Amino acid sequence: MNGFDVIVIGLGGMGSAAAYHLAARGRRVLGLERFGPAHDRGSSHGDSRITRQAYFEDPAYVPLLLRAHELWDTLARDSGRDVITLTGGIMIGPPASTTVAGSRRSAEQWDLPHEVLGAADIRRRFPTLTPGPDDIALYEDNAGFVRPEETVRAHLDLAGRHGADLRFHEPVRRWKTSSGGVEVVTDKGTYTAGHLVICPGAWAPELLADLGVTFTIERQVLYWFAPAGGVEPFRPGRHPIYVWEDAGGTQLYGFPAIDGPDDGVKVAFFRGGRTCTADTIDRVVADTEVAAMAAHLRGRIPDLPDRFLRASTCMYTNTADEHFVIAPHPAHEHVTVACGFSGHGFKFVPVVGEILADLATEGSTRHPVALFDPGRFGRGAPG
Ligand SMILES: Cc1cc2nc3c(=O)[nH]c(=O)nc-3n(C[C@H](O)[C@H](O)[C@H](O)COP(=O)(O)OP(=O)(O)OC[C@H]3O[C@@H](n4cnc5c(N)ncnc54)[C@H](O)[C@@H]3O)c2cc1C
Repeated sequence: MNGFDVIVIGLGGMGSAAAYHLAARGRRVLGLERFGPAHDRGSSHGDSRITRQAYFEDPAYVPLLLRAHELWDTLARDSGRDVITLTGGIMIGPPASTTVAGSRRSAEQWDLPHEVLGAADIRRRFPTLTPGPDDIALYEDNAGFVRPEETVRAHLDLAGRHGADLRFHEPVRRWKTSSGGVEVVTDKGTYTAGHLVICPGAWAPELLADLGVTFTIERQVLYWFAPAGGVEPFRPGRHPIYVWEDAGGTQLYGFPAIDGPDDGVKVAFFRGGRTCTADTIDRVVADTEVAAMAAHLRGRIPDLPDRFLRASTCMYTNTADEHFVIAPHPAHEHVTVACGFSGHGFKFVPVVGEILADLATEGSTRHPVALFDPGRFGRGAPG
């Protein structure tokens, strides 16, 4: 026996948070990661992630977001790192669009502070944005951005401070359960523990082949542009975070200028990327992709696509219904899984860490996680 209570596989967004929450509860934690700390080969890099509360995906996420925002503040305080900034955010589109109607539904159901803005209001309040005559928006103050690399570093630092043993550049080759616990094999050794938490990101198809969930890995591109006239009109407070849906259902989203004047302003499309695998994703961004983004921006945020600065690729791990999977593994005792975050998981990172620590140590959680049960896909546990 190596004497660990819990092994965490994958120290990206979710796994680093789980390692911290488990270590903070006094558990002896071993964390195993195939790459280095806060790397850019998975799903938790690229400077910024949107957080918001009037959640168009489903009102069931709202209580988790309320708790996540408490934990974001705690994480900022405990780590001393700049992990979250609330800038206000708007969800724009035709009134019946998923983005607008779904956000209003969550806001109304949970009584979240928000305003509904018409096209003229949007233009007046946010001069960088040029909505169409039929666009409306939900605006909320409790939206902004979190910093993925700083968040992973914050959780890793705090986990280490609480005694977690974190090992990098050590990919897990296989794992299995035995009577009383789990066994995990890497090229450097075999480790045993009472419980295993698997947070594999885009490697879910390899590490969780018998979970009974089909994952589609989607290549996504992030773009940074230098706006005409400089970044000042795009600073937080003047330019919000936004998700902007067009009549065809395409969702564009973006951020204010969060770093130096030469770092530009980030935008991306939500969904619609090519299917790939974690090991074979094409990291080259074609000129035609940049041109398509610039063309989409021109009518909406005309000053933004003045000069293209850079792009980077990232992966979504989608489930069929785009809801997460967070649960005890249905086929293996002593194993908890967190995967299938379907391109919208980062804002939940701290609360997912708390939930995983609950499930690994107590077998249950007070948080509402019924939506994330892998049994919903109907295939049940294999065998
Ligand atoms: C372009 C893009 C934009 C996004 N925008 C937003 C947003 O605005 N708001 C939002 O909330 N969410 C957003 N997301 C989604 C969010 O970032 C992800 O849901 C989240 O980062 C997933 O975290 P994870 O821990 O599951 O994956 P990761 O952070 O990738 O972690 C998985 C880890 O497991 C490791 N691993 C895999 N296999 C092994 C193995 N065999 N042995 C050891 N280690 C292993 C990997 O190396 C990796 O470090 C976005 C994602 C992308 C790609």
